[in-house]
Amino acid sequence: MILDLTFQEVCQYVKDLGEPAFRAKQLYEALTLGKQLDEISNLPKSFKEKIEKDYPKYEIAAHLVSKDETQKVAIKLEDGSVIESVLLKYKYGYTVCVSTQVGCRMGCKFCASTLNGLKRNLSAGEILLQILFFNKLLGGTLKERKVTNVVLMGCGEPLDNYDNVAKFLKLVSSEDGLNISQRNISLSTCGLVPNIYKLADDGFTVTLTISLHAPNDELRKKTMPIANVYKIEEILKACDYYFDKTGRRIAFEYALVDSLNDTDEAIEQLARVLKGRSCHVNLIPLNSVKERKLIGTNRKKGYQIAGKLEKLGISATVRRTMGEDIEGACGQLRNRVGEQNG
Ligand code: SAH
Repeated sequence: MILDLTFQEVCQYVKDLGEPAFRAKQLYEALTLGKQLDEISNLPKSFKEKIEKDYPKYEIAAHLVSKDETQKVAIKLEDGSVIESVLLKYKYGYTVCVSTQVGCRMGCKFCASTLNGLKRNLSAGEILLQILFFNKLLGGTLKERKVTNVVLMGCGEPLDNYDNVAKFLKLVSSEDGLNISQRNISLSTCGLVPNIYKLADDGFTVTLTISLHAPNDELRKKTMPIANVYKIEEILKACDYYFDKTGRRIAFEYALVDSLNDTDEAIEQLARVLKGRSCHVNLIPLNSVKERKLIGTNRKKGYQIAGKLEKLGISATVRRTMGEDIEGACGQLRNRVGEQNG
């Protein structure tokens, strides 16, 4: 698929087709604008016929708009896989939450994305098209893109699809494309330690977000199978390395589950574990998932916990819930369209 290619690679692709070089620029612009093939007016039919098989094809299988203007789409890819993406409107601009895999194999007990396991990885272009779709919808142009921020917080574990995600990060932040600064991109991971080091060593500077959800390994194992593979201590060491390399403050996600990880004891331990680090804790009252019997802490208690952490010297906020009425809220991404993945 051509959307997997950098501008330089598109130039080579066009050259290999025996077409003049200026077509590469036209093609890359059309791709960046999120155009469908039949919407491109400056390319001749003969050229379109040559690239048709490689041009991104997808359908919007469902499109939901929430009361708070959050939008969620289910995108049906060429092979029939369905993925979900969310558009969030903030004061400073628009953020797109992208999926990185069809399904997920991490098995976190509270997460809807993993209920049916992993179907497949998304390619770099398939991750990118989720942003291009929304940018086009919002009337973005080459000079003025409407999407300013990206979070890799949809379905899938980004660091379990490292190569495609790395390529995607290059594409989306490239000057030839949407040119979204890595400072405005957050990558969320359940903590695949070797790939945190790799991300730092490969020179990425995105905001790293760790789905911690527990202050100790024992408690973490209760909801996150990955805790059997990597200890919190190892994750934090990798975070320190990432911080040293990038200077980027690390964010920790902590989904509050009633009576499980929201006790005074758990929160005090969390503060001790994170003490001395340049970090921020995002508290998310768990969105209950009916297939799992875990109940979210109420928001009021969430604010008390944030206050407690602040007092203990840890920067913390309760994440605003958006798009709840369209199940676009954190961890709720799921597919109701045809296929049981996503
Ligand atoms: N696999 C990556 C990306 C998912 S991001 C990761 O684990 O970070 C989605 C975030 O929502 C993660 O922090 C995830 O743990 C959290 N989440 C999943 N289900 C949730 C739920 N039911 N309520 C609140 N947060 C949830």
